[in-house]
Amino acid sequence: MLILSVFALDKTGNISYNIIIFLIRRFVFIMSLKVLKFGGSSLADAEHFRQVAEIVKSDPARRYVVASAPGKRFSNDTKVTDLLYKCYELAYNEEDITDVFEEIKQRYNDIIADLGIELDLSEVFEKIRLSLLHSTGRDYIASRGEYLNAMVLAKYLGFSFFDAKKAVFFNEDGSFNAERTNDAMREALSHMEYAVIPGFYGSMPNGTIKTFSRGGSDITGSIVARAVSATIYENWTDVSGFLMADPRIIDNPAPIKTITYKELRELSYMGATVLHEDAIFPVRYSKIPINIRNTNRPEDNGTFIVPETDDIGEHVITGIAGRTGFSSITIEKAMMNAELGLGRKVLQVLEENGVSFEHFPSGIDTMTVIVSTRALQEKRADILAGICKNVNPENVFVEENIALLAVVGRGMVKAKGTAARIFMSLANAGVNIRMIDQGSSELNIIIGVDANDYVTALGAIYNEFVK
Ligand code: ASP
Repeated sequence: MLILSVFALDKTGNISYNIIIFLIRRFVFIMSLKVLKFGGSSLADAEHFRQVAEIVKSDPARRYVVASAPGKRFSNDTKVTDLLYKCYELAYNEEDITDVFEEIKQRYNDIIADLGIELDLSEVFEKIRLSLLHSTGRDYIASRGEYLNAMVLAKYLGFSFFDAKKAVFFNEDGSFNAERTNDAMREALSHMEYAVIPGFYGSMPNGTIKTFSRGGSDITGSIVARAVSATIYENWTDVSGFLMADPRIIDNPAPIKTITYKELRELSYMGATVLHEDAIFPVRYSKIPINIRNTNRPEDNGTFIVPETDDIGEHVITGIAGRTGFSSITIEKAMMNAELGLGRKVLQVLEENGVSFEHFPSGIDTMTVIVSTRALQEKRADILAGICKNVNPENVFVEENIALLAVVGRGMVKAKGTAARIFMSLANAGVNIRMIDQGSSELNIIIGVDANDYVTALGAIYNEFVK
């Protein structure tokens, strides 16, 4: 502060507060750099654009903004991305696209008119319309939702617009090319102090557009955060972070203040949504924290997703998530434990049939493989025949209707008796446990129950640890 004061003396020798403010802002600018991603619901209409601008402009460190396409404005509204997919299908089937296409144009034109900005998108709309009529790729059409929205937002904020196709790259086989992307994004953004980048898409080696899977703007945000070595990646959405359990099942679940990357992976894999499950990978390299924030309640701190932390949080567990729709294949054979390569042979059958396994609990003479019921459906006969041929079991059978629950928490590593508390709470609630699997990291315990018991089981565990 002393240094700032010395430099902040004006011509009359007095301290100028404007200069001090300027220097502080400059200091913040150099010391911290924030990447923000706004989801579709945060950019659904002009009112939300105003909130977004207020958030961005309130902090000079908020320099790079990744935009989604306009989302739903009310519950039975349609996201622009869905309208674009619909247009594509119509055009593909040589049906009339006029109404749907007009609806899309209207969404953007309403935002532009309401914000009072000078931006004429008619040429871009026409290009998209022609692409639709000439059956240009489905991904290209879908990506235009973000492209247009980022253009509008850049104009409104007075930021540069940077097209993601120039620096988000996929390989020939469709996989994401992380290193080439990182180099190109870093280089491009080093020439822009403030920029808006459309999320969700990038380009193939031949220049055509390819999108990530749905919700992929979260990944773009993470890519940008890594490229510019952000101090934080703020992911702005319509909820104030993660909750400890699904609010459709648990009434008013407690919020999660801090969660590690690993815990989040476990929970999102098991069905907890908010952030795209691949969004962690780019920032993981550089250990950049992600902060999930609510555009409608910017005063809330939201959830911090951090590489690691010593703070184990308020409860022993961090969260519970789960999914129904699993089946188990159980293989029984005497002296199974002594038979070398048996597990490999069973898993090989699954691999050959293109079915991946979720869990693999085993006993001395039995082993069970948990797979998705949907994936198993078509291949069931081939898989059972393959297992019989490969390992010659005494018995092999499939049980459907299994739900898996993941109880996740870094606090479980040190706490004793966590498993006992989980099992006791399930027993007291009359839930029969069909499978248990504790990862060696001790970060999670996976429990298989009958799908009909799923809701009861989740409630029982939540109440045991949180209430
Ligand atoms: N607009 C795309 C979707 O609806 C991508 C995104 O929002 O992240 O999935």
